[in-house]
Order: sequence, then C-alpha cells, then structure tokens
Amino acid sequence: MKATIAQQQLDIEKLELSRSETLEEMEHLRIELRNMAEPSADEADIDAYEREKTWALIQTLERKVDSIDHALRMARNGTYGICESCSNRIDPARLEILPEATLCLECQRQRERRNRRRRF
Ligand SMILES: [Zn+2]
Repeated sequence: MKATIAQQQLDIEKLELSRSETLEEMEHLRIELRNMAEPSADEADIDAYEREKTWALIQTLERKVDSIDHALRMARNGTYGICESCSNRIDPARLEILPEATLCLECQRQRERRNRRRRF
C-alpha cells in the first residue's frame, strides 16, 4: 500500500517545511542562549534556570530534526504514513499535528510506556 507519487511529493514538501522551521527555531534559541548574561551574584539562579530550559528545548528540537529526517527517508521510499511497528496506516489527523510521526498512536504509547519503565 504505497503512496502515490503526488502524495509522496506533498509529504516530502511538508516534512521539509517542518524541518526548516525547526532549524530556524533552534537557531533562534541558540542565539538566545548565547545572549543570556553570565550569572551575576543576585540573578544567578534565575539565569541558570532559563539557560537550562532553553538548552533542554534545543535538545528536544534536535531530536525532532532527527525524527523528521527519518520520516523524510520513509517519504522518499513511499512508506510515509505507515506505522513502522504494526504497518497500519497512521491517522492523517495525527500526521497533521505531528508530521514526523512514524508510529501510530497506539504503538507510540506502547513505546513510551516501555521507555518509562526503563528509565525509572
Ligand atoms: Zn502501529
């Protein structure tokens, strides 16, 4: 059940747009991080917290770019929109919100449950 070429092209365009938006956002945060003042005596705690938050956000975006790259490879293979785990079609509404999703909601939840158990 491969996607049509036209659909494939649309998927690739959508993912590339999402990728460049994410990179732009990441760049913006990196500049913000660079511009954050070095801790001064009375502001140290607030700044450290802000820097940490921004840094965590950048890392989240880096993971997002990786996911988008992965989804792009699938789109080029014509397998975008098909769950990698159960091979069911991923809900288009889900892909609308999360274009880089390569798992259906059910498989994603299962994976998150497993990851949580590993972590704690
Ligand atoms: Zn699935």
